[in-house]
Amino acid sequence: MSARAGIVVTGTEVLTGRVQDLNGPWLADRLLELGVELAHITICGDRPEDIEAQLRFLADEGVDLIITSGGLGPTADDMTVATVAKFAGRELVLDARLEAMINDIVTRLMARFPNVDADAVRASNRKQALIPEGAHPLDPVGTAPGVVVPGSPTIVVLPGPPRELQPMWHTALQDPALQEAIAGRTTYRQETVRMFGLPESGLADTLRDAEQTVAGFDRLEITTCLRRGELEIVTRYEPDAADSYAALLALLRERHGREIFSEDGSLVDEQVARLLTGRRIATAESCTGGLLSARLTDLPGASAYVAGGVVAYSNEAKAELLGVDPDLIATHGAVSEPVAEAMADGALRHFGADTAIAITGIAGPGGGSEQKPVGTVCFSLKLADGITVTRTMRLPGGRSDVRERSTTVAMHLLRRALTGDAAAIG
Ligand code: ATP
Ligand code: MG
Repeated sequence: MSARAGIVVTGTEVLTGRVQDLNGPWLADRLLELGVELAHITICGDRPEDIEAQLRFLADEGVDLIITSGGLGPTADDMTVATVAKFAGRELVLDARLEAMINDIVTRLMARFPNVDADAVRASNRKQALIPEGAHPLDPVGTAPGVVVPGSPTIVVLPGPPRELQPMWHTALQDPALQEAIAGRTTYRQETVRMFGLPESGLADTLRDAEQTVAGFDRLEITTCLRRGELEIVTRYEPDAADSYAALLALLRERHGREIFSEDGSLVDEQVARLLTGRRIATAESCTGGLLSARLTDLPGASAYVAGGVVAYSNEAKAELLGVDPDLIATHGAVSEPVAEAMADGALRHFGADTAIAITGIAGPGGGSEQKPVGTVCFSLKLADGITVTRTMRLPGGRSDVRERSTTVAMHLLRRALTGDAAAIG
């Protein structure tokens, strides 16, 4: 069995959700790259008893390595090192080299704050130079040093701020005690397939069949999730199970070839960016309020192909900014295919673009009707060479789901139209 690890994220601000945990997921990725099995990520506040309970839990689970994040600062609520020392049965001892180093850092910092009592600050920072006896200090990135405490499990104590934790993790990796703890790691391969337009239940059916027909299926660790309206299938396996993965991929292609848009982990956003090379795109958005435009300009280099966008939320704006005929809106309603097409035409003209996409819909919670319930969204994509693709979708979820999902649908309309697969757009 592979080396296993657990992560203890500490900090009341993280526990309460005021700060979103960035360290757990980041460390999870690093462990995955190393081939270390991640058993748990636990989160607790700044109470020593709670931190200790989580260390105890992970140790009882038999992990080889525990990584903690947070609570290394000079203040009284930063107690991780003392807690870990107690847990590991080691005294805290002053590390003179660390103390000198922290002194140096603090003296330089204090030069900028002449009114602060430097001696008091040094005294409180002295606490940060205390490490468990026999442990290996990790030099500070900010002012807080980390520490590797060898043992079973080995415990790596890292600071909370991600910009300090990340470089320190790379230093920690050189530590012999850490290397020994993860010596049993296995190399894994990880592949990602992404699909659009297939319900999760359809994929579940296929995976049930794969269980019967794919040799070595049980050697594939498959996780599926729905993200931004797309299905993501991540498979992890040891290299000698590559044939099983190839058989699974063949089955997925056979059953869902039309829905698979990525087999190499690439995102639809990246694919659309590539397809837009040499083109100029304009957007006309109503219910998404600019989210599509934001998504298109999220990738660096977008200025090469994004001309601009119009957020035309009101009927007047649709008429004035995009030249949509008010009669069209009166006759068909603002959420209708003719209006979406007129918006796309307007965007093409206004920006002198060769590619335009328009979105108009009912994001809710109000504004729905029997014919056009909440979630009804009309899309129109126009290319300067005359190709027009117009679709009406009924998207599930609340307001933010509908708005976000609309941008995903628009990205896939673009992808299909620009790969010449317009006929296949469903
Ligand atoms: P400091 O010396 O800054 O006090 P520390 O090691 O004691 O460092 P914490 O007090 O736990 O770290 O956290 C300091 C700040 O770092 C938090 O207020 C938060 O902004 C950020 N931070 C801490 N933990 C996390 C985390 N898991 N994810 C994202 N940010 C975090
Ligand atoms: Mg702190």
